[in-house]
Amino acid sequence: MRVVRTRAELREALRAAPRPVGLVPTMGWLHDGHRELIRRARSDNATTVVTIFINPRQFNEAADYTKYPRNEERDLAICAEEGVDLVFAPGVEEIYPPGFDTAVSVGAVAQPLEGAARPGHFDGVATVVAILFNLVGAERAYFGQKDAQQVMVIRQMARDLAIGTEVLACPTVREADGLARSSRNVHLTPVQRRAAAVLRRALLAARSAWEAGERSGDTLRAAMRAELDREPLAAIEYVSIADGSTLAELHNVRGPALASLAVRFGTTRLIDNEPLD
Ligand code: AMP
Repeated sequence: MRVVRTRAELREALRAAPRPVGLVPTMGWLHDGHRELIRRARSDNATTVVTIFINPRQFNEAADYTKYPRNEERDLAICAEEGVDLVFAPGVEEIYPPGFDTAVSVGAVAQPLEGAARPGHFDGVATVVAILFNLVGAERAYFGQKDAQQVMVIRQMARDLAIGTEVLACPTVREADGLARSSRNVHLTPVQRRAAAVLRRALLAARSAWEAGERSGDTLRAAMRAELDREPLAAIEYVSIADGSTLAELHNVRGPALASLAVRFGTTRLIDNEPLD
């Protein structure tokens, strides 16, 4: 496994790399969710590239950026263990050199949910992923369904900017109690960690109501809220039943939909979702 830090080293390392190339962009603090993306990339491609870059532009809260967990040594050991061929771990100035002055801003699909709750977040995501797609030139890139809206934003960006990297979504990897793996889980106290299992229960409440034939958006959202309200440590930021392709909130669920939520436990903000299709 080779680790490179600069654009020039990356270009040079990729020149000889067997095609196709699969890319897994991450912000480090790798967990089983990232491992799944890496395994999928390895099974589909001749070369697997992982990027580790905590992108300051996608953090709308300065404190969230500074306290984001970091352990490069451990991340590199996980990449080596998973058989990654190339790791690109640049510094901030390598991605945003002095004078950098462009932002990629995706339209409608980036506006609701995380876009509304975290102003500027998706501009930061779309900008860094466009740069990484251009630098790596991979045939395929792998993202987690856990960040369902992010996948949609990145697909829109790649299509609109004529970037030929195919965007693939992989299923959410969960802990035994259903909590989605996330780098931010490390910030939860033991009590908050136990309480956080309510996210999955809330989504499953919506799912079972939907499976039983419930199609009212209000009723499905209320089912999620009712479950979350049973957990006093859970501070709801939003619950949503949205159209599966536009993410517009639904009065009536007619086609594929996405149940999603954002909930705070103390200062730690967690998101999760469940497709209804
Ligand atoms: P992050 O390092 O948190 O920016 O995540 C890097 C990639 O891993 C993103 O595409 C995430 O959606 C994906 N990811 C994060 N958590 C999970 C999970 N629990 N299951 C599957 N993919 C995940």
